[in-house]
Amino acid sequence: MKKLINRPGSVVPEMIEGLVAIWPGLRKLPGHEVVVRAGLDAGAARPREVAVISGGGSGHEPAHAGYVGEGMLSAAVAGDVFTSPDPDSVLAAIQAVAGPAGAVLVVKNYTGDRLNFGLAAEMARAGGIPVEVVLVADDVALRGSTGQTAGPRGLAGAVLVHKVAGAASAAGLSLLEVAAEARDAASNLATMGVALSPCTVPAAGAPGFDLGPDEVELGLGIHGEPGVERRCIGPADDIVDLLLAPIVAELALKPGDRIALLVNNLGATPTMELAIVARHAISSLEATGLTIERVYAGTFLTALEMAGVSLTVLKLDDARLARLDATTDAPAWPNQAALNRPRGHRDATPDPTPETAPAKANPPTTPVGLALERAIRAAANSLIKDAPRLTELDRAVGDGDLGISLARGANAVLEAMPTYPLDDPAATLHALSVTLQRSLGGTSGPLYAVLALRAAARLKSATQDPKNIPLRTWSEAFEAGVEAIADLGGAAPGDRTMLDALHPASQAFSDAIAAGNSAQTAQKAAADAAQSGANSTATMPPRKGRSSYLGDRALGHPDPGAIAVATWMRAIAGIS
Ligand code: ADP
Ligand code: MG
Repeated sequence: MKKLINRPGSVVPEMIEGLVAIWPGLRKLPGHEVVVRAGLDAGAARPREVAVISGGGSGHEPAHAGYVGEGMLSAAVAGDVFTSPDPDSVLAAIQAVAGPAGAVLVVKNYTGDRLNFGLAAEMARAGGIPVEVVLVADDVALRGSTGQTAGPRGLAGAVLVHKVAGAASAAGLSLLEVAAEARDAASNLATMGVALSPCTVPAAGAPGFDLGPDEVELGLGIHGEPGVERRCIGPADDIVDLLLAPIVAELALKPGDRIALLVNNLGATPTMELAIVARHAISSLEATGLTIERVYAGTFLTALEMAGVSLTVLKLDDARLARLDATTDAPAWPNQAALNRPRGHRDATPDPTPETAPAKANPPTTPVGLALERAIRAAANSLIKDAPRLTELDRAVGDGDLGISLARGANAVLEAMPTYPLDDPAATLHALSVTLQRSLGGTSGPLYAVLALRAAARLKSATQDPKNIPLRTWSEAFEAGVEAIADLGGAAPGDRTMLDALHPASQAFSDAIAAGNSAQTAQKAAADAAQSGANSTATMPPRKGRSSYLGDRALGHPDPGAIAVATWMRAIAGIS
């Protein structure tokens, strides 16, 4: 177990100390793991509004303390991790924040919570404080199982009930009215989740259950209780459809119904994936004719570091929408979401296509055009073939994307080749530069693009007849391109970059041409120089690019960008 904790036994009190240190609107109730709204703590005048209290086991942060604030919860009671709080703490919370108007307890449907909150409610009533308990059982995974199980569980939908109850209380409603609105919301609520990984309770020290590397569990509870079905992970859109189907059925949603959608991170889901899930959930629900008034996407109620999401739908009318939109200063409630959404989002909306596809050029007919086509094709194919090896090299000293990037660029070049005016090498290098700059990406992308661009410019300015370019002009263009990489990237030979292959290669090429050799001989000399230059990078300390973060730890590994240069130059020269 690897966690940023001090001792498993102290996680809850230390978390609460931290939360009240972070948020000026939160206070701790002395002697209890209870967070109350500032202004409702010791010595404050009895509030006139109905208190709204929730809580449960810890490990579901930001629930529940994050929802304490004006217009939402008056207090949150925190049990141990995944353990219901004791009735004394709940009673202390009630006594601290409830005035004569009484208190509504919003309780998720777990046996422990029902008993502890229920007993505290009983004790409070006996002491003269009117209390209503509102149960939230929004889980649709276990529908139909009432009788065999403790019934549907309370999940992330509880947060929406907190919001409705808190806003109703802030509007000055009576205890029974607040409780009625909260119950009404709870019975128009449905949630279904999927887990991609388990989570580890600090005191247990090991994950609560196992999931295979490709497995997900549908309908999993927020404490790692089993769900309804284990299956292989599929595309996100398919998983979203599996989550939505029982929700739509449970709420009997029909075209024209107005809803709020809550896309909840169960703990360790990247925001990127949450957005991908939200995208399809929104478009699926809208496609069935529903009006999605509000979308809340983020981390609302978690199961520690479990990866996965839950989707919640709450049916709305104007009054309930107003409760959701009412502002609160509870730290974890997204007030910005109270804006009307533009209607008609569809994830199928395609990006506009470019008006004109680039025209196909005539296939090459001149010797130079045919040679250029052969060279480009050989270079591209060699990079595609060597992508795994280059990625492996980049993984050792960089971020492991080089092979993938170069293969992507190479495929784009092969695809664009029919549009290149190959009999005009300057124009072709220019077009190649555009392809690379659009497709390659990373650090290599702009560097290769500028190489081709500068070489194209040099060829163009020095050439009278594109079909008859002197070898010397080719070598000048090569040198100019290499210089452009140094200009743009700010590296020099010896800095352990692709320049350590390109620079000696262009020198060798120029020398061979100056000595009167053929193009093919010069290409071989260049490729050999590129290979030995690339090999020599293994002993150079990195000063540029991502490997520079590694410092001396990069020693012993060659620079992947330099090896890539040797790869495509050898392919052009016909060296295998
Ligand atoms: P990244 O993933 O770091 O953005 P790539 O994986 O596309 O970059 O390319 C990494 C290669 O880029 C390195 O192996 C090195 O050869 C080359 N490189 C990095 N920085 C420079 C630079 N400033 N000048 C020239 N080449 C560089
Ligand atoms: Mg990289």
